[in-house]
Amino acid sequence: MKKKLHLVSLGCNKNLVDSEVMLGRLSAYELCDEPSLADVLIVNTCGFIGPAKEESLNTIFSLHEARKKESLLVVAGCLTERYKEELMQELKEVDLFTGVGDYDKIDEIIALKQNRFSPKTYLLNEEERIITGSTAHAYIKLSEGCNQACSFCAIPGFKGKLLSRTLESLIKEVTALVKKGYYDFSFISQDSSSFLRDIGEKEGLIQLIDAVENIEGIKSARILYLYPTTTSNALIERIIASPLFHNYFDMPIQHINDVMLKRMKRGAGRERIIEQLTLMRNAPESFVRTSFIIGHPGESDAEFEELLTFAKDFDFDRVNLFAYSDEEDTSAYSMEDKVDAKITTKRIKQIDKVVQSKTKKSLKNELKKEVTLLIEGPSSEHEFFMGARKLSWAPSIDGEILVNDSDIGELEVGLSYSATITDIAGDKLVATVTKLA
Ligand code: SF4
Repeated sequence: MKKKLHLVSLGCNKNLVDSEVMLGRLSAYELCDEPSLADVLIVNTCGFIGPAKEESLNTIFSLHEARKKESLLVVAGCLTERYKEELMQELKEVDLFTGVGDYDKIDEIIALKQNRFSPKTYLLNEEERIITGSTAHAYIKLSEGCNQACSFCAIPGFKGKLLSRTLESLIKEVTALVKKGYYDFSFISQDSSSFLRDIGEKEGLIQLIDAVENIEGIKSARILYLYPTTTSNALIERIIASPLFHNYFDMPIQHINDVMLKRMKRGAGRERIIEQLTLMRNAPESFVRTSFIIGHPGESDAEFEELLTFAKDFDFDRVNLFAYSDEEDTSAYSMEDKVDAKITTKRIKQIDKVVQSKTKKSLKNELKKEVTLLIEGPSSEHEFFMGARKLSWAPSIDGEILVNDSDIGELEVGLSYSATITDIAGDKLVATVTKLA
């Protein structure tokens, strides 16, 4: 009888790709959703900021509570990489520990029952991985690590320096996935616009777009995690010119005030960021997403007000809001003028109202439009609706579209259809499918 595996992947979509690599290595196991039935339980943790670390620990403890006596509890990922000594000392509940260097060795780690922390961050090549969550879409990891030095971020400390995959390896992987029926791809990394800069190439993403456009069978693609200082106008224009890559622009800016951007060591200032965002916003059918960090050390009322005003003036489609998290091993940790948590919470409440109204405006702009959407499965709302997203949106983060009607009868999960956006229900669009796309 096949052994049962229960895997929980926490954190970002880059971590999800690493979890998919582990599933590929453990394909001899039967996947199970019920932790109490599993022979092996794996938590791929996130160690980025306070709330994510807490979620990782809580998940470890709850799986330990639920698991059967003779099972094996394995903890992998960023939290273990960042705090390996402490966790191996303190977490007696856990049987095996590994970090971010051995995802492709997880089967050996389990077979030998040995902890493993290879010094080098694992970089996916063309390993067989088990794509989760969709039969149409796959995340493609461009690189590992990061050469930026954002004041609030510990990632370079435990993921290391930027290490790009080769273009050949990427094209081989995407081509193989297209043969399996995947046709929608999100290219991701910590800092995607620095792709190939570690080997001296200034415009690696332009090379990527040129190469991916030549792969037959791809219908749709987008790039996530652009970084302001490595996103050139040439790149933005190349994305706009591409018949395949959507005018989907995900560029976390974190702030807009020049003094704050300097404190955060972001490299680009207000003027340059607004120039980039304007170019993106003016692109046809563009979608502009970003994120803000609120309450970073030194953030004054006036500096926050400037960000708040900017959020009111610029039409972002989606904005992620983060409260500053005081992370040791970052330069912000030793900064004075820490902002009181109550003030940060108050500021987040204020700017969240603006962000919500912008998202609502973006949704309203879709009303009565003919769009292409991808059916993702039963909706989260009601069994009568199918859940979908615009093909140009990224999975899981840009929202759900409720399909409540079809001119062509039954709809198939994983296929793309043309549809009319007929209504808005709360924070979700409602659509009628008209034909196969
Ligand atoms: S770009 Fe900045 S925030 Fe992102 S991983 Fe690198 S250092 Fe961290």
